[in-house]
Amino acid sequence: MKHFPIFMAVEGRAIVVSGGGEAALAKLRLLMKTEARITVFAPNPAPEILQWAAEGRLTITARDFAAGDAKGAVLFYAANEDDAEDARVAALAEADGALVNIVDNLGDSQFITPAIVDRDPVTVAIGTEGAAPVLARAIKADLEERLPSSLGLLSRIGKAFRAKVEKLPMGRKRRDFWADYYFKSGPAALEAHGETGVRPALDALLDHHANAETRIGHVDLVGAGPGDPELLTLKARKLLDAADVVIYDRLVSPEILELARREAVMIDVGKEGFGRSTTQDDINALMIEHAREGAQIVRLKSGDPTVFGRLDEEIDALDEAGVSWRIAPGITAASAAVAGIGQSLTKRNRNSSVRFITGHDTKGYAEHDWRALAREGEVAAIYMGKKTARFIQGRLLMHGANPDTPVTVIENASRPAQRTLATTLAELPGALAEDDMSGPALTFYGLAPRAALARLETDATPTAPRQQKEAL
Ligand code: SAH
Repeated sequence: MKHFPIFMAVEGRAIVVSGGGEAALAKLRLLMKTEARITVFAPNPAPEILQWAAEGRLTITARDFAAGDAKGAVLFYAANEDDAEDARVAALAEADGALVNIVDNLGDSQFITPAIVDRDPVTVAIGTEGAAPVLARAIKADLEERLPSSLGLLSRIGKAFRAKVEKLPMGRKRRDFWADYYFKSGPAALEAHGETGVRPALDALLDHHANAETRIGHVDLVGAGPGDPELLTLKARKLLDAADVVIYDRLVSPEILELARREAVMIDVGKEGFGRSTTQDDINALMIEHAREGAQIVRLKSGDPTVFGRLDEEIDALDEAGVSWRIAPGITAASAAVAGIGQSLTKRNRNSSVRFITGHDTKGYAEHDWRALAREGEVAAIYMGKKTARFIQGRLLMHGANPDTPVTVIENASRPAQRTLATTLAELPGALAEDDMSGPALTFYGLAPRAALARLETDATPTAPRQQKEAL
């Protein structure tokens, strides 16, 4: 962000504009929506400006801007449509202590004016740092369509009612009240009885909410998918949008966390580095504690919560505590990874079953049916398998697997940093040792990237030959 958006208090303060032509008119139309004192300096002001001055909406001084004219002003616009004159007045206004904007000159401006959606007191400012004004206009048009024009009126009436709503406890209850007002009762009352019907509707609504029973907490066990926010389900988005508390794992990407409400309590239970990460018992306790306070909790897990996510331990704990829960599935890393190499998990005449294996520890491998997996055409998706690659390789070879069986490691599936390492069972540990994969990675046993795709990637990244062992 090269420009930080803020809302400046301008009520009763001075804003000065130098210029009296088209550029000045455009800015003045915007500025007159504010409660600032507006002063214009222009030797030959346009008739509209004279008209506005006559209506008392601004003050006009019919001469060039001079030193000291912007003393005490908060903002200054140089709108002379003449570079030399704009530079002269900008320097003077800056010396007077005002923040300076030169119209159509991003580089020399101290601030820029966003595209504005005006539902006063609700104001949406849209900025593209000058990069895409067309885009800003399109977003503005879109928002204007979506935000009913009654929104401004409803929020003004709502604002006057704020003090009364303090009788509801902070947090969930108050939010429910306001959501109900803005999206249901408010618009309905306005439509049925006009402006005068809104206040009685607010009173009735407050009564209703004050007497409503306290909500009970609930936990949604939600899959966040492999990382790409577009691979989040609509349901997960909605739950995130409604959550009071979000308890998330390390692999959940920051873009997805951004989708939670700003007021939501965000709890990271996947910390790495020194100090132990939060234990499973701590996580269970956190969920139960917040649920008992009546919170709506999203327990956000990477991929699909039902795949190597210790989901059952959490469900058991919630059941024992009598807390209600529901699972919202997500796209598991294997689905995203296999999509990334253009292959299917199962294929007619190749494999009619696919195994999901975790390499988290080697203990669980003892009972594994290595002999079956070693057969021609078998496919397995190995989660958390980087450290145990050599062990897995050893077991498979020992049970007769073909050393030339393709193996593909996909790091950061679906994320911008996605990488593919195509190798063979024989070469897997060596290839991994040579690479410095630090992101989450999934290993496919029995699958190579589809040839056309592999070629494409090789062409696109000629400097990274290690990633594509074309020997396959
Ligand atoms: N529930 C998750 C898996 C959790 S176990 C799911 O369904 O995907 C964590 C392991 O998943 C990681 O060690 C890695 O092997 C794999 N993984 C998760 N996200 C990944 C991604 N974006 N790319 C590759 N592997 C990923």
